Amino acid sequence: MRFTIAIDGPAAAGKGTISKGVSAHFGFAHLDTGLLYRAVGRRTLDGEGPEAAALALTPEDLNRDDLRSAQVAQAASKVAVIPEVRAALVDFQRGFARRDGGAVLDGRDIGTVICPDADVKLYVTASPEVRAERRYLELSGNGADISRHQVLADVKERDARDMERAQAPLIPAKDAILLDTSDLSIDDVLMAAVAAVQDRVSPTD
Ligand code: C5P
Repeated sequence: MRFTIAIDGPAAAGKGTISKGVSAHFGFAHLDTGLLYRAVGRRTLDGEGPEAAALALTPEDLNRDDLRSAQVAQAASKVAVIPEVRAALVDFQRGFARRDGGAVLDGRDIGTVICPDADVKLYVTASPEVRAERRYLELSGNGADISRHQVLADVKERDARDMERAQAPLIPAKDAILLDTSDLSIDDVLMAAVAAVQDRVSPTD
């Protein structure tokens, strides 16, 4: 059985939690596509050219434990504007989406570019302030020495770069279901996401 769920949205909107929850609920495989860009960004911080890094990416790169930092997030969004980097990562993502048994991919351009024919598309968002607060708690909880002010500035900078780039900008697909997590708990949003997918997995009409 092939079934593809595309989940897009800006940084710290809750995509990761929702993607993991939805994939666990339906027993589908999950790919966090942001990790691909983070791994490329990480390799560029180590001195490699962005396109060469994208072409040389290995499974070990995705398992590095230093991909979640604010520095790597910024490097990821910088390499993500480069068309050759995006092109190098397309086949892997599309192959994953078509795997047998169902797949959930989360990122920025899954419903618009990578899987325009996905069975379900969700666009998860929240205000920059709410997202920055979540990211601040996550980063400071992991011991990072960073201020709320700095995290909000980083979130806004990354939003602008992701939304304004020429290729595969972050925008909701026309047929995406919008989920705003600003005033809802992630659990409530997860329930809404599962219900939206359930409708398509086994339509009642
Ligand atoms: O989702 P995450 O915050 O880990 O993504 C890091 C960066 O990777 C994003 O800010 C974005 O620039 C880039 N990205 C992308 N397309 C995707 C996933 C991530 O451009 N499908």
